[in-house]
Amino acid sequence: MLAVATLGTAAAAELVYEVTLDPAKPTTAQVRLAAPAGERFLATAPVQARGAQIGVAIQAERLSCDGRGVPLRKDGWHLPRTGCRELTWTIAFDTLGPLGVDASNQQNLYDPVRKFWLVSEPASLLRAPGTESGALIEFRGVGEVLGGMARGSAARRTVPGLDAAPEFYFAGGSLPTRRFVAGGRPVVYLKVAEADYAAIERVHRAGLDYLAQVVRATPTTEPSIVVWLPIEESQRATGGAAGSSSILANVATVEGRAQPLRLPFAQLLVLHEQFHQLAPQPLPHWLNESLAEYYARKALRRADPGVGALHLVERRYPPLTAPPRQTLLAVQRQIDDGDFSAYGLLYTEGSNFWLAVDQAILAASAGKRSLDDELPFLLTAEYPQGRLPPAVVERLRAAAGASAFDELLVEWVGQSP
Ligand SMILES: [Zn+2]
Repeated sequence: MLAVATLGTAAAAELVYEVTLDPAKPTTAQVRLAAPAGERFLATAPVQARGAQIGVAIQAERLSCDGRGVPLRKDGWHLPRTGCRELTWTIAFDTLGPLGVDASNQQNLYDPVRKFWLVSEPASLLRAPGTESGALIEFRGVGEVLGGMARGSAARRTVPGLDAAPEFYFAGGSLPTRRFVAGGRPVVYLKVAEADYAAIERVHRAGLDYLAQVVRATPTTEPSIVVWLPIEESQRATGGAAGSSSILANVATVEGRAQPLRLPFAQLLVLHEQFHQLAPQPLPHWLNESLAEYYARKALRRADPGVGALHLVERRYPPLTAPPRQTLLAVQRQIDDGDFSAYGLLYTEGSNFWLAVDQAILAASAGKRSLDDELPFLLTAEYPQGRLPPAVVERLRAAAGASAFDELLVEWVGQSP
């Protein structure tokens, strides 16, 4: 979307966002982005952080081009026609207070108690020409750094391309972490909320082991980071956000203490996002979200979080006997037209569709097979028109019984067999 201008493709790897964090002034940070030797950032398009496209409040301020202020217009900063050798700007941080924070806002955050920063890539990094892919970020003036993948040093991390999920970075003197390995990958918790992390880990570990097994994920040494952010229940805003390697999840608190009853929702969210991380194949929205939600729901059940917790989570979904409000392909068409208002149906009705298919396969095989056996095939098939292709339809008809599956396909997906 941004023309590369004078920056050649080889230059991309040399682009490094240098972020200087200062414990003496923790609510702002300086960012510097220099063009490779002999090249300039040209005014081919306005410069903006990509969070602007997804409703994230931009916390980048005061952009300068070679030391001179750049005007900010509605569509972003307009660089001078002669271009810039070096871009510098500041980023602002919200301070984590007693009410906590809504994780879905994807904001920069400073925790004055544990003294660490959360840097949100979509809110902070201005995407100058040449940073579309392969750029890096380097942190100065801090201790431990997490987020993205390390490149060359622990303080130098990858920046996602424009077509990848957003990223979050964590830096500070000593991050409050808890580490374990599950599903063939390291998991790092950043413990911001006060909570029973041993109990959270037990459920997460069992769920992740199961997901990695059904997805047939290859083991990796790159950690998945889960940041448990507190939010007071009075704020009525528990949410989450998922990045390429990091997940922000809210823990509902009352006067700073975690509410165990609300935890299963956060754990469902984490398992949903981990399904995406384990199965990063490009799938149509409706298929991607419905499978992620169904498998998070199934993984949570297998992880045995307790009857009360399961009951609470299951109330999120309509009963299987309720007819779908819209077919999944109808929701997909709305999304293709830029209307995301029915997106939530991909989670609720979408996961109900797969639950019904799973039950049909169990019934047809007298309990010997399940949707798990078909999942690797589903994840590697091609979906040229966004619908289930004949090979997938045939496979699921064979597993679930032809007439049972055809009925579900028409009713929930809105596709004729
Ligand atoms: Zn999702």
